Amino acid sequence: MKKVVKFGGSSLASAKQFKKVGDIIRSDKSRRYVIPSAPGKRNDKDEKVTDMLYQCYEAASTGGAYKKILEKIKSRYEEIIDGLELNLNLTHEFETIEENFVNKAGRDYAASRGEYLNGLVMAEYLGFEFVDAADVVFFHEDGSFDAETTNRELGERLESVERAVIPGFYGATADGTVKTFSRGGSDVTGSLVAKAIHADMYENWTDVSGFLVADPRIIKNPEVIETITYRELRELAYMGASVLHEDAIFPVRKEGIPINIRNTNKPEDKGTLIVESTCRKPRYTITGIAGKKGFCSINIEKAMMNAEVGFGRKVLEVFEKYGISFEHIPSGIDTMTVFVHQSEFEEYEQSVIAGIHRLVEPDFVELESDLALIAVVGRGMKATRGTAGRIFSALAHARINVKMIDQGSSELNIIIGVKNSDFEQAIKAIYDIFITAEL
Ligand code: ASP
Repeated sequence: MKKVVKFGGSSLASAKQFKKVGDIIRSDKSRRYVIPSAPGKRNDKDEKVTDMLYQCYEAASTGGAYKKILEKIKSRYEEIIDGLELNLNLTHEFETIEENFVNKAGRDYAASRGEYLNGLVMAEYLGFEFVDAADVVFFHEDGSFDAETTNRELGERLESVERAVIPGFYGATADGTVKTFSRGGSDVTGSLVAKAIHADMYENWTDVSGFLVADPRIIKNPEVIETITYRELRELAYMGASVLHEDAIFPVRKEGIPINIRNTNKPEDKGTLIVESTCRKPRYTITGIAGKKGFCSINIEKAMMNAEVGFGRKVLEVFEKYGISFEHIPSGIDTMTVFVHQSEFEEYEQSVIAGIHRLVEPDFVELESDLALIAVVGRGMKATRGTAGRIFSALAHARINVKMIDQGSSELNIIIGVKNSDFEQAIKAIYDIFITAEL
């Protein structure tokens, strides 16, 4: 059994957190490959080391004052090293980093040092081999990720290594220039390592006990999702529910490796298991609810629209011209509605309306703003009759007007449009009817 374990910044923010991580790794021999993030925040007012590195580099590479912030970064690591009573001295590493900053080694190089140094500390603490991500994770010259070379090199390098620490977030081009993934990218490294070594499990340790059924800012103490499929996760993540970097899903998904989201501060919790497919019956009819505010709808009406071939294409062409992506297109017989992000649309609104008039000569075009979309997602919905009925009666009871309904052909989710001002209330009503009532 081989497990890849990735620890997020809050799990490695202090010596105290490192000790928890050490206990977790040592309690299961199959946890053989460790991916650390950079030290995160120790409390709400604290700063992430990655953010400090960006600031420090900005100053150092433009001739500004950077010493103070570099000292601050150094002290974060010293605190951890002292707290763990390690015999490790990073003075030389910091000298090299300072020199490279002044010589403009690049923002990516700067940011990557958070993970690099934490990897050195972690390897020393655990007694595992340190494998620099710059030697095994590859990027093309243009900065895009090189999946093929990475998979090959990672696989070959780790084949003979029993236990290793591989820092997350970065890699390098063939000439050694350091590149990073986008923020939160250590999740991606974990996924790549899991794929390359054919892991049985990718454990992603963070500071929550998994994916929650609903946003805790709206629902007090929501239930944790026990098992979720990749497709359900995609639907919820699209609507803003996030715990994991989006790009972390693809590599393991293709290999059929499950991801387990776990909580470093509550290792006894089972967390959420993300799988390709499962026979396990979901605990509730729905798996999760997520949503976003800030949409706007463009309602187009034209008598006999349904007989006009190419109508939809022409309308969408106008949106394409202005680079606006559409989210949903519910339609009636003589009406068509396009949902877009308000912030993306506002700048072009009048041009889009004019374009639609020119191309399809509608009877009228009407805009409605300040709308929210809510996705009710669950593989269990397919086998259960009456799910939509329950959603709408719950909303009616809460006196919420439904503006739009869209059920995907997969029967995996139902999307509901409501006014921004009804958003929270609508989520509460849906949560109550499916989760509180089924508890
Ligand atoms: N340290 C990086 C960040 O703050 C990457 C990560 O933590 O995954 O975005």
